[in-house]
Amino acid sequence: MKIFQQMESEVRSYSRSFPVVFHQAKGSYLYDEEGKAYLDFLAGAGSLNYGHNNPLLKKALMDYIEQDGIAHGLDMHTQAKAKFLTRFRDLILTPRELNYRVQFTGPTGANAVEAALKIARKVKGRGNVIAFTNGFHGVSLGAVAATGNEHHRGGAGVPLSNIERMPFCGYHGRDADTLKMMDKLLGDPSSGVDVPAAVIVEVVQGEGGLNVAADSWLQGLQKLCRKHDMLLIVDDIQAGCGRTGTFFSFESSGIKPDIVTLSKSLSGFGLPFSVVLLHPALDRWLPGEHNGTFRGNNHAFVTATAALEVYWSDEHFTQEINAKAAIIKQYFTAIIESYSPPALRIKGLGLMQGVECINGEIAAAICRHAFERGLIIETAGNQGQVVKCFCPLTIGEEDLRKGLKIIDMSFAAVMREFSQLRSA
Ligand code: PLP
Repeated sequence: MKIFQQMESEVRSYSRSFPVVFHQAKGSYLYDEEGKAYLDFLAGAGSLNYGHNNPLLKKALMDYIEQDGIAHGLDMHTQAKAKFLTRFRDLILTPRELNYRVQFTGPTGANAVEAALKIARKVKGRGNVIAFTNGFHGVSLGAVAATGNEHHRGGAGVPLSNIERMPFCGYHGRDADTLKMMDKLLGDPSSGVDVPAAVIVEVVQGEGGLNVAADSWLQGLQKLCRKHDMLLIVDDIQAGCGRTGTFFSFESSGIKPDIVTLSKSLSGFGLPFSVVLLHPALDRWLPGEHNGTFRGNNHAFVTATAALEVYWSDEHFTQEINAKAAIIKQYFTAIIESYSPPALRIKGLGLMQGVECINGEIAAAICRHAFERGLIIETAGNQGQVVKCFCPLTIGEEDLRKGLKIIDMSFAAVMREFSQLRSA
C-alpha cells in the first residue's frame, strides 16, 4: 500500500474508498491480493456493463491478438474498424431509424464531449452552449465548463466560459415548467441569455444523483431546440449501452438527438473507446481537425463488435435488464419503508437506481459498511447523498440479491450506529 501513498498523485479518488490492492476480476466480482472477493456494484463507473473479463468478449480479443491483429492504427482503415462500423449500423442504428456518422475521438468520454461541443459551435457559429444543473460531462476544460459540480469546476484554474446553466427536469420541483422558463429566456432579446449553438443533456444524470429526465420533458426539449435553432446533444456516456434498459437512454422518449456521445461500456471490456454520433449534415469537420493519437483502439473495436453481436442482436438483453431493474426497485422500496429516514426515496431508472439518503454522510457510511461486507458501491449526487447501485448488467440474479441484501444490512448497521451516537 505504501507505494501508492509515496508515488501516486493526491488526485486518486476511488482507491481512498476501497483501500485494498485488487488483483483479479471475473464477472461481477473483484478479488484483492489476499483472494478476498468483492461484489462489484460500481462496475468501472459504468464501463463494465458486461462484467469483468466477460468470456465471450475475452475470447474474441484473445483470438484477434493471437492472429497479430492490428492494435494501434491511428485512424487508418482496419478490418476491425470496418466490422465494428458494420455491426453498429446494422444492430444499433438501422433498427432504431437513426442516421449518424461515427466520429472516433480520443479514448476518454471527456474527449467525445469536447468534440461534440466543438462541432456544434463550429456548425452554428456561436460559442454559447446550454448545460443543466447537476450535469456531469468530464473534467477537461470544455467538458468541465458544462459540468455543474463545484468540486470538479474548482480544479480548472481558469474561468470556465461559454456555458449557460439551466434547470434540469424537476430541479424546481414537479410543478415548475423548466422548459417554459427556458423558452421565455431564449425568446427575449434582453434576457441576457444568448441563443446557444447547442444544448447538452444527460437523460439520467449519473454523477449528479440519478435524476431522470421525463420522456415528455425530453420531447419538449427537442421542440425547444428546433424552435430556437439549437442542436440537441445527448451525453449518453454513462446512461447509454443498455444501462437504462435500451441501448440508448433516450429511446423511450422517441427523440432523435442531433449529436450523441458514447464511451464507458462501448468497448464492453473496459477498454478505452469513445465516439461522437453526428447527424450527417453536421459532419463539417476538416480532415484531422479534431485528432488524437489514440482514436483507433482496434482491441476495443473487436470487443465492442462482440458485445453488440452477443447482447444486442435481439430483445433478450433488454428484457433481462428490465427484470433485474424490477428486483432492485423491490429491494429499495423495502429499504425505504424500513429505514426512512435516513433513506428518503428511490432515484434513477433501469440498472442505474439508487437510494437517496438525508445527507452525504449517511450515504458514505452505508458504502463503508457495504465494503466491509464485501460490496463495492459508491455515492452520487450534489451532496453525495445517493447510494448508487451500478452492478454489471449481466449480473446473475443470485448475486444481485446478495448485493442488495448487503445494502439492506448496511442501512441497518448505520441506523444502529447513528442511534447509539444520538443516545450517547
Ligand atoms: N459524460 C458523462 C455523462 C459521464 O458520466 C462521464 C464520466 O463519468 C463523462 C462524460 C466523462 O467521461 P471520462 O471520465 O471517460 O472522461
